[in-house]
Amino acid sequence: MARVSFDQVRKVYGDDTVAVQDLSLEIPDGELIVLVGPSGCGKTTALRMVAGLEVITEGEIRIGDRVVNGLPPRDRDVAMVFQNYALYPHKTVYENLSFPLKLRKLSRRDIDDRVRRIARVLELEEQLPRKPGQLSGGQRQRVAMGRAMIREPYAYLMDEPLSNLDAKLRTQMRAEIGLLHKELGVTTIYVTHDQVEAMTLGERVAVMRRGELQQVAAPQELYNRPANLFVAGFIGSPAMNFFLGRVSEEADGIWVSFGDGQRLEVDEHERSLAPALSGMDGKGLIVGVRPEHLQDAALVSGAPANRRLKGLVKLRELLGSEVVVHFEVQAAPVVTDAVLEIAEDVDESALSELDHRRQERRTHFVGRFGVDSPSKDGETAEIAVAAGALRFFDLESGARLAA
Ligand code: ATP
Repeated sequence: MARVSFDQVRKVYGDDTVAVQDLSLEIPDGELIVLVGPSGCGKTTALRMVAGLEVITEGEIRIGDRVVNGLPPRDRDVAMVFQNYALYPHKTVYENLSFPLKLRKLSRRDIDDRVRRIARVLELEEQLPRKPGQLSGGQRQRVAMGRAMIREPYAYLMDEPLSNLDAKLRTQMRAEIGLLHKELGVTTIYVTHDQVEAMTLGERVAVMRRGELQQVAAPQELYNRPANLFVAGFIGSPAMNFFLGRVSEEADGIWVSFGDGQRLEVDEHERSLAPALSGMDGKGLIVGVRPEHLQDAALVSGAPANRRLKGLVKLRELLGSEVVVHFEVQAAPVVTDAVLEIAEDVDESALSELDHRRQERRTHFVGRFGVDSPSKDGETAEIAVAAGALRFFDLESGARLAA
């Protein structure tokens, strides 16, 4: 086991495709870190440079205390875990699991200890004498995972290892990986484009965009204090709602106004997160609020008048435990590069819709309301904004307003 570090690492493919820019990241010994970001952000390239499968253009990568830039893959002692695994059909589960250790000439006793340990964690003890053909899909996947992970290398490098599985198996395997990591404590770098996977699995999560590291933090920190608009929009599902607002400092406090005369008072927690708000009287900014922090005001007893907005309900999706309500607020939508990129990542048609709304100064919002919400399609609803839920971002840079 070892720490892994990137020091100002840059990767250029050919003459001009910059896949990774100036990446500096310290991964302590034993940590499970997730690299996450949309397609093409450079996360796989970063991982492959650690494995030695891509040449590093500039900077240094260390595994333990060794700079590995010039070291061939086999001398780095890391294990790559990919999405496609093949098992040996004529070998038993035991033989499949023990194979990588036999190659390394471990003693029989050591091999047996490790096979039983990994089989226990992956709940494969009863399957050890069976052949792959006698296993369920999920069991086969676990054997494959176990085989990739049975060695105890300096680090595991995992590139979307679960992306071929159906949703249920994926959730189950994700939990297994978490457990396995707890048990074995091997430094792990896990790459995914799925923010839910990143948030549930990572001890820390590193968000990348266009080759650049945006923020690295514990999941809750990313959620509560995103560094910028991109991280705020990427982490969380459904995504954070954004709209344009204007600050007004009044005798009774700081407010943000938007659209046709609506306004929200900024509460104490929000002000403490964004002290730069005072002194911005009259200035525009981007306001963000998550769907789970919006509620039908009819369901909140004593919802304060200074924390409400009005929205025209467009669509209600009943999910049993909640209703996801899409509504439109008279406020100018936010159209920045980051927002466009997130929209594009979701769906191409989202782009033209965004453009249309911009012209009409209407912003699409999503709220997660209680199932008893009396809101109806085509009607205006009063929506309560939870305490401490508003986040503010700079119009130009997209950085979250902070101290
Ligand atoms: P995905 O989730 O789609 O795999 P990613 O975030 O892992 O994306 P990378 O595969 O690291 O992204 O790619 C980063 C950038 O480098 C992209 O613009 C990609 O087109 C480019 N790239 C990747 N591999 C090569 C290559 N072998 N030659 C040239 N360009 C490449």
